[in-house]
Amino acid sequence: MTTAAIHILPEQLVNQIAAGEVVERPASVVKELLENAIDAQASRIVLEVEEAGKKLIRVSDDGAGIPADQAPLALASHATSKIGSRDDLEGITSLGFRGEALASIASVADVRLLTRTADALEATEVTVSGGRADAPRPASGPVGTTVEVRNLFRYVPVRRKFLKTDATEMGHITDQAARIALAYPAVHLTVTHNGRSVYQLPPSESVRERVGAFFGGDLAASLIEVTSEEPGGRLWGLVGPPHVDRATSVMQYLFINGRYVRDRGLLHALREAYRGLLEGRRQPVAFLFLTIPPERVDVNVHPTKIEVRLRDAHLLYGQVLATVRERLLGPGLTPSLPAPAAAGAGEPAARTAAEAESAEAASDRDERVRRAMADFLHSPAAANQRRLPLAGKTALQGGFARKADSDAHRGAPATSPVRVQPARWALRPGTSDRSRLGETAPHGEAFDEAAPGSRAIQIHNTYLVAETEDGILIVDQHALHERVLFEEIMKRLEAGPLQSQRLLMPVTVALSDREMAAVEAYRESLGRLGLEVEPLGPRDVGIQAFPSLLERGDPEGTLRDFLAWVQAVDSPPTPRQVLEELAHVAACHAAVKAGDPLKTEEIEALLAHREAAHMAATCPHGRPTALILRKTDLEKQFGRDYAAGSKAAATDEILPY
Ligand code: ADP
Ligand code: MG
Repeated sequence: MTTAAIHILPEQLVNQIAAGEVVERPASVVKELLENAIDAQASRIVLEVEEAGKKLIRVSDDGAGIPADQAPLALASHATSKIGSRDDLEGITSLGFRGEALASIASVADVRLLTRTADALEATEVTVSGGRADAPRPASGPVGTTVEVRNLFRYVPVRRKFLKTDATEMGHITDQAARIALAYPAVHLTVTHNGRSVYQLPPSESVRERVGAFFGGDLAASLIEVTSEEPGGRLWGLVGPPHVDRATSVMQYLFINGRYVRDRGLLHALREAYRGLLEGRRQPVAFLFLTIPPERVDVNVHPTKIEVRLRDAHLLYGQVLATVRERLLGPGLTPSLPAPAAAGAGEPAARTAAEAESAEAASDRDERVRRAMADFLHSPAAANQRRLPLAGKTALQGGFARKADSDAHRGAPATSPVRVQPARWALRPGTSDRSRLGETAPHGEAFDEAAPGSRAIQIHNTYLVAETEDGILIVDQHALHERVLFEEIMKRLEAGPLQSQRLLMPVTVALSDREMAAVEAYRESLGRLGLEVEPLGPRDVGIQAFPSLLERGDPEGTLRDFLAWVQAVDSPPTPRQVLEELAHVAACHAAVKAGDPLKTEEIEALLAHREAAHMAATCPHGRPTALILRKTDLEKQFGRDYAAGSKAAATDEILPY
């Protein structure tokens, strides 16, 4: 292809190209300006935003300021006071060093810089508009620096088009403010949006206090302190106990030398520390601060410095893993591993506090399992039936048709905040119809016919094993239960919004600004699921109603996981994806968990729905719900097929039918 002669690009265009890397959205500007204020040793920073930063971003600090003669340079590209030589690059101690941020920003917006050092008699003002800088002029102003950024992307309309709603962009801005606020708790930070105060954070020595300000006092109070000192570095942090988990990794904050980073290795170490303590793909909550010698970390890897290269990556990996793991398994914390049955009678005096706690956890779990399984349990007669029920016949009776006065319901403590008014929803109550799920099962399949005399058992409190006519069925109890609930929710959603139950007491949930924005954006979809959420304060919502179908589900967990997903998806989800995700998180929370011991009748009731496992073969996450070992395969494995047909008698000894 033919092109014009090679030529050097004009500086303005160079900067605009560079800006593409650094300035993606208003929050990127906020990040750069806040970092500059921190680098200038500010003790007080004011961030003012209008129209989510699209109209104005102003950061004022009381830091060192810039000498008058250098003020224009601050806005030039590759101009920095932070490094001077190759050697400096080897040990970066400041947040900035590339000298590119202000120039990049000034190439895509109108910028005004007002600055004054402590020994200057007056301030200096420089404005840049359309990449053209005016001569600096004296102005009045306090010691410190104010940078004002107006009309972001005015000169790159394409970028402007990519900006999301104010709520979303403001969420990103808040997140940047949180990262600085958490890493520098001693700095007074104020944030306002459209003239209204969003955060007022007085100087504090406590990271926990700051976590509380951004993510709610309950979360902050639940966190456990971790600390360790090793030659390679010092680690300090606050981590969530295993029961305070999240659906995604959004609540994992890692700082290296005061800089927020996403380091896959160290985040993996964190996840590993929770191995066996968290269910499936659940993610821990953590705020980790690593201090390491600056020459052991290369921050010059990524334009926004969110990725770094660590010299002692494996040592730090081990440190994070060991420090967090030891704390989680150490004294004073009850691991949420399946606890053994409570201590036998006759020795209560000998029980330690830890044992008492684990017995309490066990009885909580029993209660939870009972609630989760209540839908699947039917008449006492069926419950007593020890045989594996014939699917599609007795087993499906009232599968979803739960009686309002079932034992499980009566067993719920009357004061429980999530308890709802007596159910009205029962699907065809009192009939012996198959549930709608049952109707979708293929009729007369051999699979459906359990071998007479067979029994189902539970293994490791996690898997259900049953004999089928031609082999062995192994089911993941959580995956199956979740699948069944998911299908039911989706089926009902197709017909219209789910019926909801008003909660006797609304569940209050503290949310971040980004989550508040997501609640606003998805209110309608939440409503379709029957999840009614109302704002109670700037960062609190109340769940007023919950789908009656999932009366035993976990309203808070369901909402939190959905919001985490919304924040994690790259492109705007389709309405269908939104509903599926809602159904999925709701089902996941309402289902029995791995590690939940089930009673015989509960096992049977669940397995009665195993056509769902057969039909779909995967839970909504895409994991398999069931495995089938065919008798013929077993025979092969055991070498019983050497003369197929003639040795039938031998086979019968193991699998009689
Ligand atoms: P960098 O931070 O990588 O050096 P910037 O473009 O962000 O590059 O800033 C350029 C220079 O302007 C900085 O090196 C610093 O000397 C000066 N500067 C920017 N913001 C401030 C501030 N808030 N206070 C004092 N000096 C500042
Ligand atoms: Mg900078």
